[in-house]
Formats: sequence, structure tokens, C-alpha cells
Amino acid sequence: MTGHSDLRDLYQEVIFDHNRQPRNFHVLDDANRSADGHNPLCGDQLTVYARVEDDIIQDVSFVGHGCAISTASASLMTEAVKGRPIAEAKQLFDHMHQMLTESHPEDTDLGKLEVLSGVREFPARVKCATLAWHTLQNAITQATQTAQTE
Ligand code: ZN
Repeated sequence: MTGHSDLRDLYQEVIFDHNRQPRNFHVLDDANRSADGHNPLCGDQLTVYARVEDDIIQDVSFVGHGCAISTASASLMTEAVKGRPIAEAKQLFDHMHQMLTESHPEDTDLGKLEVLSGVREFPARVKCATLAWHTLQNAITQATQTAQTE
């Protein structure tokens, strides 16, 4: 039987793992989109790279430094959006944002991203979890300014 706390431990373990060994953590040499993101509340700083062709995110990566939540979230994001159409990635971000900010989010399947659902209980950390997503959105829309979580 899996209790609520076991599930929470599992989520923690996935977050630790993605923080220790972030996936797609490198500069993307053939990127045609990139943006910087900064969360001044926590000091998280990252750059997201993407190669977009025919409105599909063919490849995505990030570099930077920050807290465990921001790094794990960025790592999970790259896995979640790679190979997806831009419209789907945006929808995923909307659902993820709902999960993090609403007490009774719509029941959508976020897959592995659900490991971040516990962040909802720590409103100050929501910005850490969404930084990579805001930055990706800026990269895709080719906004030139640095993404701010404020
Ligand atoms: Zn942070």
C-alpha cells in the first residue's frame, strides 16, 4: 500500500535526482531560440535554449544555477517539452501553473511534472518552479528582455 507520505518521498527523490543530475544541462549549439531567466527572490538564474522548426520544439536545453526546485523544474521541463509542438508546450505550462497555484486544479495528467505539486504549499517557491517555463516562453516568442518572475 502506498500512503500519501510514500508518494511524497518518491516526489522528493525525483526532485533530488533531477537537481543532482539535471537532464539536457548544456548549451545548445544549434539553438535558434534562447532567453535568460532570473528569479531575484531566490537568486535562481538560467538560460534556456531551443531549436524550433515548423512550430515544433525539436531540441531544448538549459544552463545556469539556482536552488534545487528551479534546477529540477528546468530539467523536468526540458524532458517534457522536447519534441512537442509549441502549442502543446504552452498548454503544459498552463496546466503546470494551475497545479502550482490553485488548490483544486483541473484533473489533468501532467506525468512526471506532478512531482512538483508539493511546491503549491510553499508559495514563495512557486516562482522557482515556474522560472524555466517563463524563460522558455520568452525564448520561443523571441522576447529579448530577461524573464522576471515578478
Ligand atoms: Zn529558487
